[in-house]
Amino acid sequence: MPYAEQLERKQKTVEDLIGQYGRVDPILRMKNPDHYRGKVTSVFGRDRKGRPVCGIYRAGTHEVVPVKACRLEDLRADRIIQTVYALIDSFKIRIYDEDTGVGVLRYVQVRTARATRQIMVTLVTGGAVIPSSKKFVNALVRRHPEITTIVQNINDRQTTMVLGDREKTLYGPGYIEDVLCGKRFRISSRSFYQVNSLQTEKLYNVALDYAGFSGKEKILDAYCGIGTISIIASDRCREVIGVELNPDAVRDAKYNASANGAENVRFYHNDAGRFMMDMASKGEKVDILFLDPPRSGASDEFLNAVLALGPGKVVYISCEPETMARDLDVLCGRGAYRMKKAVPVDMFPYTVGVECVALLQKAF
Ligand code: SAH
Repeated sequence: MPYAEQLERKQKTVEDLIGQYGRVDPILRMKNPDHYRGKVTSVFGRDRKGRPVCGIYRAGTHEVVPVKACRLEDLRADRIIQTVYALIDSFKIRIYDEDTGVGVLRYVQVRTARATRQIMVTLVTGGAVIPSSKKFVNALVRRHPEITTIVQNINDRQTTMVLGDREKTLYGPGYIEDVLCGKRFRISSRSFYQVNSLQTEKLYNVALDYAGFSGKEKILDAYCGIGTISIIASDRCREVIGVELNPDAVRDAKYNASANGAENVRFYHNDAGRFMMDMASKGEKVDILFLDPPRSGASDEFLNAVLALGPGKVVYISCEPETMARDLDVLCGRGAYRMKKAVPVDMFPYTVGVECVALLQKAF
């Protein structure tokens, strides 16, 4: 579908879902919508003839469709994955078999940082041992000196989650860094990081602009990941609290706050809904709430906590307008908040996905 038509469809999707609550501005598009994905995951498997393949699952199946290059994906990432594929034979690295649990390599994930050009390769394995691991890592880095770190992630469970709980750093520092809106961020392999960093800067700029800081506010950044929004906002307000469930992301966020000299930011490891309920029950106040939940949207507990805490402004960032519409029904549908404006941001060109930011104001 031509890019202009994709944008029209996404605009309509968002308007149909949330237009009833307020104004929806025109979607923020990419100038060049190709190869924007900074995170590429390739699954390793075998085709019907038993030959190794790597790529993506065919929708709704566990059949691997070979992918050598993709219009969405960072070209450097695709090349590295093809090199891993070419090397596994000579290093006798067996491909993991999902049914029997036998074998080694399950997935390769590559993350590229746009601003720093750093690259992390995560080798996801079914067991702890990669045969001739040192030689393999050396061979990969020799062919791709642009790789700055290699991590082994061990995932021995029967699950559709790509990453497991255990990790070993095989090369370099075990993380990469990127720069967004003038701040530097450390990203570990298991922490969330937006896949389209060019559009992320636009998204954050809109979100901060919607917040309209005076400089005196206390803000809460719920579902804060590695602390990007918190730290970028910290220059413009009095105090920031971030809450996040993934312990690795919280560790990154704390490190990032101190590395950027953001002294007015604190991060907590907790469920966002539970954390906010605690705040409400202690009678604490928040002026501006940012929330950026996963596709499933906010929980009932979280929405109740928003109503109990009653921040003056809520900036809702969503990667799934359907759940956003469901949550707006609770926050705006019953009159507690009014949606002042919203704007879709095209973070995922050539897919059906669309991101959206909305500003809600407390109704007095
Ligand atoms: N605002 C960040 C992260 C957004 S992604 C950014 O722009 O990079 C959503 C984040 O919510 C992920 O980091 C995920 O680990 C976290 N998360 C998921 N469920 C959660 C919950 N119940 N409570 C707090 N954080 C949660």
